[in-house]
Amino acid sequence: MPKERKNMIRRIFDVVLSFILNMSKTRANYWGEFAVDIPLGIVLIFAGLRYHDLNWLAVFLSIVSGLILFSFFEYFIHRWLFHGSVGIMAEGHHAHHLNPLGYDALPFFLPAMVLLILTGIFALLMPLDRAFLLTGTMALGYATYGLSHYTIHHTRFHLSWAKHWSAHHLIHHRHPDTNFGVTTPTWDVLLGTRYAYERKK
Ligand SMILES: [Zn+2]
Ligand SMILES: [Zn+2]
Repeated sequence: MPKERKNMIRRIFDVVLSFILNMSKTRANYWGEFAVDIPLGIVLIFAGLRYHDLNWLAVFLSIVSGLILFSFFEYFIHRWLFHGSVGIMAEGHHAHHLNPLGYDALPFFLPAMVLLILTGIFALLMPLDRAFLLTGTMALGYATYGLSHYTIHHTRFHLSWAKHWSAHHLIHHRHPDTNFGVTTPTWDVLLGTRYAYERKK
C-alpha cells in the first residue's frame, strides 16, 4: 500500500478513536449504554422464549447460566482488563478511580457488540433459543451492574444489607487489588481477592 494512503488511514483511525474516547466520557454515552443494552436484553429473552421448544427447566437453567457467566465476565473484565495491561480500557477505568462520580464508561455500543458476537458464538454451540436466553440474561445482567455501580457511588444507603453490599465496591476504590465484583462478591470469595477485613482492619 502506498505510504500516503497508509498515513491517511492512520489519521482517519486516530480521529475516530479520539472521537470515541471523548464520547465515552460524556453523560449521554453513559446513559446511552442502558438505552441500548436493556432493550437488547429484553428482545433476546423474548426471542429465546418465543422460539423455544424448551421445557421450563431448560429456560430456568439457561437464565441461571447467563447470570453465572455474566457475573464472571464482570469480575474478569474488571480484574484483568480494567486493572490489567489493556491500555485504553485501563485508562478509562483509572479515570473512574480518580473521579468515581464522573461519567467515564465504555463506548455505549461496545458491550452490545460483544453480546451480539457472543450470541453468534453460542448459537454455533447450542440451540438458538438457549443462546438468546443466555446472552439476553447477560445483557440485563450488564445493565444491572451499571445501575448498581451508579447507585453505589451516588446513594447513601441506610439499610444494613445495602450498606454491606455497597461497601464491597467502595473498599475496592481504596484497595484496588481486592473486591473486583460489583453486583456480587462471589468470584472474589472463590478466587481469593475478597478484602480481608479481619486481618487488615
Ligand atoms: Zn466504582
Ligand atoms: Zn477498579
